[in-house]
Amino acid sequence: MSNIIYSIVVPVYNEEEVVDECYKQLKQVMDSTKKNYELIFINDGSKDKTVEMLKQYCKKDKNVKLIDFSRNFGHQIAISAGMDSSRGDAVVVIDADLQDPPAVILDMIEKWKEGFDVVYGKRLKRKGETIFKKLTASAYYRFLKRMTDVEIPVDVGDFRLIDRSVCDAMKKIKEKNRFIRGIISWLGFKQGEVLYERDKRLAGVTKYPLKKMIRFALNGVISFSYKPLKIATFLGVLASGAGFIYFLYALYQRFFTEAAVPGWTSLVSLVLFFNGVILIILGIIGEYIGRIYDESKDRPLYVIQEYVNFENKEEKPVRGG
Ligand code: UDP
Ligand code: MG
Repeated sequence: MSNIIYSIVVPVYNEEEVVDECYKQLKQVMDSTKKNYELIFINDGSKDKTVEMLKQYCKKDKNVKLIDFSRNFGHQIAISAGMDSSRGDAVVVIDADLQDPPAVILDMIEKWKEGFDVVYGKRLKRKGETIFKKLTASAYYRFLKRMTDVEIPVDVGDFRLIDRSVCDAMKKIKEKNRFIRGIISWLGFKQGEVLYERDKRLAGVTKYPLKKMIRFALNGVISFSYKPLKIATFLGVLASGAGFIYFLYALYQRFFTEAAVPGWTSLVSLVLFFNGVILIILGIIGEYIGRIYDESKDRPLYVIQEYVNFENKEEKPVRGG
């Protein structure tokens, strides 16, 4: 058994401008708890100096651990790797860019001691983010809530504390396109929240370009809801209904009026319309099939190229490469 009480999981991707400050602040906050802790950094295939810097901390500070991915696997997978190898009684996930203030961890710990198994940080305000990001994020959380049957809290990111029991349950989840905050809600357990203000990034730019954000958002909806499929069916029914009415009208014109033969305009618009609908539906079905394909390949979730400061084999993740 380990005597580690707290594990802090920090995914990092090209964060050379912020890791120094991040490490300093996390160390300060965690030292103040006077308990044993580990800071697990997951280097998600950074191309800058991040990994060298992390290795430096590992050398001089045995509380720091590093999981070095062989390439960029993505934020959600990095968090999973950190959880898998964590040993603490409570595990905290936090971003490296200090948008989530490390001091809030202490509030989370207090809540955890009150008996909550999951304590998530709820953002009161988001500073220094573009209007576009704020608007899309806010709309997305509300959309997600309507689309899914799982109670996923609104305006909550991955900044949270989970109890060991939740972390162990998490390890049993095998899906590849993972939406961690959704999975944690799906798991259940006693959930609590602490309120905080999200700061702006300390330095550097977001590592979530629009493309990654869209993929992430899609995973959230599709992994937790069959509603898009239902909408597809609904659209199909609606389109067929409209088509049928137009068909009746065409019959009427043909047999009961002297009108000229309908021109190609109507024909073309019908073809276009139905092709459009079919394509939308195929697209939605494709999204699901793509995910079925992903899951059926059953590849390891990630590949680790190096472990630093992990003492023995048992400390290595149960899953993975
Ligand atoms: N991150 C990662 N892999 C990625 C993208 C991001 O590990 O592919 C890390 C990043 O270093 C940061 C956290 O995930 O610690 C959140 O990313 P970011 O702050 O860029 O996202 P935003 O706050 O802009 O949504
Ligand atoms: Mg950020």
